[in-house]
Amino acid sequence: IAGEGGGGGKERIQVSVRLRPLNAKELERNEPSDWECINDTTIIFRNSLPERSMTPIAYNFDRVFRCDSTTKQVYEEGAKEVSLSVLSGINASIFAYGQTSSGKTYTMTGITELAMCDIYDYIQRHQERAFVLKFSAIEIYNEAVKDLLGTESVPLRLLDDPYRGTVIEKLTEETLMNWAHMKELLSICEAQRQIGETLLNETSSRSHQILRLTVESSARESVGEDHSSALSASLDFVDLAGSERASQALSAGVRLKEGCHINRSLLTLGSVIRKLSSQGRNGHIPYRDSKLTRILQPSLGGNARTAIICTLSPARGHVEQSKNTLLFAGCAK
Ligand code: ADP
Ligand code: MG
Repeated sequence: IAGEGGGGGKERIQVSVRLRPLNAKELERNEPSDWECINDTTIIFRNSLPERSMTPIAYNFDRVFRCDSTTKQVYEEGAKEVSLSVLSGINASIFAYGQTSSGKTYTMTGITELAMCDIYDYIQRHQERAFVLKFSAIEIYNEAVKDLLGTESVPLRLLDDPYRGTVIEKLTEETLMNWAHMKELLSICEAQRQIGETLLNETSSRSHQILRLTVESSARESVGEDHSSALSASLDFVDLAGSERASQALSAGVRLKEGCHINRSLLTLGSVIRKLSSQGRNGHIPYRDSKLTRILQPSLGGNARTAIICTLSPARGHVEQSKNTLLFAGCAK
């Protein structure tokens, strides 16, 4: 069967790294940066401290983006192709992975809007097909799933549907009427996330946000009884929890336990992505070990396309976390 088994994970997972600029505080402290993107695919670490070895370490990815790159560039070269595959009925996901303050939200917010803009543009130019766009948004905090567009604050349950796979019970799904409607929903999600952040004291670093766009389309004039032209796929925009928690947990060798501030979902995502990338999607993939991976399974497995943008802080104080992020990026590649 086309799309299952055949071909490794490599072609289906695109891994990019984006270095953010030093921020005002870091500049004020005269924080040095040891990172340099020397071409479109290589970032090097060169520690300029006199007592350290001067041998630079080079890391290669599908694409690396310098600190002066724009989100438009990151989208065009790191996420556009994957995003637009949803229009041909192929599930897709775009992730931002990195430590807190490295630029995940900044990058994903921009990419989401640019992708939506291209999708609307495509729909305008393809009047021969009828499109229906649906939108839903959730946040996962401590393995509890919250509806960002819902009115109730109770956590949502995951159900196993024999036909549709994992279903989020009672999740609000809005049919998008137009661009303005979509923008409004995006700002509701942002506001909801900020409310949560204030209530739980900066949870954004520990919570995952998933915005899911489902695109259904069919030919306006179907030929006879042929309905084979109907397509449906979803595109997930995932702003992950800060990776510092996962790497702390890993280095301490701590066992996964609910509620002990270790992010089960983030760790499981790491092993799912490593397995998808190394085994070419055969063999056992531990999707069921976390809420995040259960929900994302359709946009990670099978013939789905994935773009991972790893965001990096340039500051020397963040070197260890930056190296951990590149380690993750290297495993996904
Ligand atoms: P994260 O979501 O990873 O915690 P944010 O996206 O919130 O990080 O970024 C932290 C801060 O740095 C924000 O104020 C954001 O506007 C800024 N920032 C992040 N990336 C960039 C960038 N590439 N260019 C300019 N400012 C950035
Ligand atoms: Mg963020």
